[in-house]
Formats: sequence, structure tokens, C-alpha cells
Amino acid sequence: MSEMNTASYPCPEEPGFTARPINTNSYRFVDSHCHLDALEFEQDLEAVRLRAREGGVDLCLLPAVDKMSFEKVARLAHQFKDVYALGIHPLYTTKAKESDLDFLVECVSSAQKVHDPRMIAIGEIGLDKSVPGLNWDKQVFFYETQLRTASEFNLPVVLHVRQSVDFILKGLRKIRVCGGIAHAFNGSLQQAHQLIDLGFKLGFGGALTYPRALHLRKLAKELPIDCIVLETDSPDIVPSWLYVNAERRSKGALQARNEPLEILKIAAELSSLRGISKEELMYATRQNFFSLFNLNDL
Ligand SMILES: [Zn+2]
Repeated sequence: MSEMNTASYPCPEEPGFTARPINTNSYRFVDSHCHLDALEFEQDLEAVRLRAREGGVDLCLLPAVDKMSFEKVARLAHQFKDVYALGIHPLYTTKAKESDLDFLVECVSSAQKVHDPRMIAIGEIGLDKSVPGLNWDKQVFFYETQLRTASEFNLPVVLHVRQSVDFILKGLRKIRVCGGIAHAFNGSLQQAHQLIDLGFKLGFGGALTYPRALHLRKLAKELPIDCIVLETDSPDIVPSWLYVNAERRSKGALQARNEPLEILKIAAELSSLRGISKEELMYATRQNFFSLFNLNDL
């Protein structure tokens, strides 16, 4: 269970919860998935993170994608008082070597030895069926080996599950881990419940802001609030208001960049879908994140 400060962050069940007055300056959203180490942020990362913090995003989870990003996500998480995860992303398994998995074990082990409170998960790991030409067996090997690492170090996992939820579940039944987040979830209701039963929270972000995303919006509306976390996946999965369509791109416009501050508008959209206040959604999703990772206030 969470040991977070319940005096500051009452859980949704507490009486008086929704009535708690709040102003914009006291927003404390968590962006449970953002790649602040991405090249897209190279020029103005500090401004991006500051903008988000001033807007009310006080904690970001920075997942690594490959061996080269381990040091950077760790450094950025400490610099910005955020948290990070270490792992090899399925789309990066093409270039990865088997020895990178040993390097992951070494890095996790040294972070645990120094009791780094900001290294909280193994991720981003998983499987992706949407990209043709990827070596599936290699993806599965990297996914399962990293699940074993998570299990060995008793760490939750941050999962990439694009068009692969059944295969993801198969791995999770074979190698038990202490839960985690299925990031950018877009599977069926039944798959959602199977993940929830295995101790997972489901990450929702910009994809639900598209009016045509009927299935995803229905899921985000109807799933129990205690299994949802918010995410931006910055710089990717831009919300509808930032989307640059193919026609404009063909005329030279660049696809917009997503950033953690967008969590506020994504939360506004999801809270209106669910018919609750933005504050209630903020408290609930924050509580979900903190209890999943057993975090005290950092
Ligand atoms: Zn990601």
C-alpha cells in the first residue's frame, strides 16, 4: 500500500474529498509516461519541464528506451526531481545486443545498491505488432528476459502493448511481476480486466482526445477509476488540438510536439467524459500512481 502523505492527498474514498477547495496553483498531476530524453526536447528541455511544473505537473516518469538512454533518464529524473525506469523498448530491440540485457541488470543493481528512490520500474519494455519487419522472436526474448529482471528485483514494469496485449498477457502469466502500467492501452475491455487482475494500471493520454476514438473513450470512461493513470507519451501521441493532418504535413508543416503540460487538458477531457471534476481525477490518478510504485512524496 501507499505510504504517501494522505493528509495532503486524501484518497477518493475519504469523506469531503471532492469538496476540497483547490486553485490552479495547487494542481499536482503526474505524467506517468514521457520521454524527456528525446531529441525533440534537446533545445528547450528545461523550459518544457518548468512550464509543466508551473502548470501543475509536479512528477513525471521517464522511461528509458535503450542502453544509451539509461544514464540520461537517470540524470534528468534527478535534475527535475522526477522518477525513471530502465529498460529496452520493443522498437529498439532491432539494434540491441544480448549484452544490453546484462547491462540493464548491472544498472538496476547499482541503483538499488545506492537506494536511488527515483529508479522505480523496469521499462519501457513490451511487444509491438504494428511495425512490419521487426524480429518477433527477438522482441519476445527481450520482453521475457526483462520481465525476469523485474521479477528478480521486485520492480513493477512499464509496458508497451501496441497491438500485442494477448502476447503481453501470455508473458505476464509465465513470469510474474509485481504489477505496473500498460502504457497507451487500447485493447478490449476483457484484456483491460485481465491486466488489472495482474496488478496493472492502464495509461490513458492524448489518444482519447480524438472524437472518433469511440472505443478508447468508452474504455476511459467506464473502467474503474482506481486502475487509471494519466500520461502524455511526450513528444509523441499528440492530443487532437496539436495534431497536424497529412494534408498540412504534405505542404511542409511539421507534426507538433507533445509535452507534459498537455496532461492538464487531457485530464479536462477525461474528467468531463467521466462526469467528475478535474481535481477528483487528479487525486485519484495520483493516488493510483503513488500506491503502485509505493512512493512517498519525493
Ligand atoms: Zn514510451
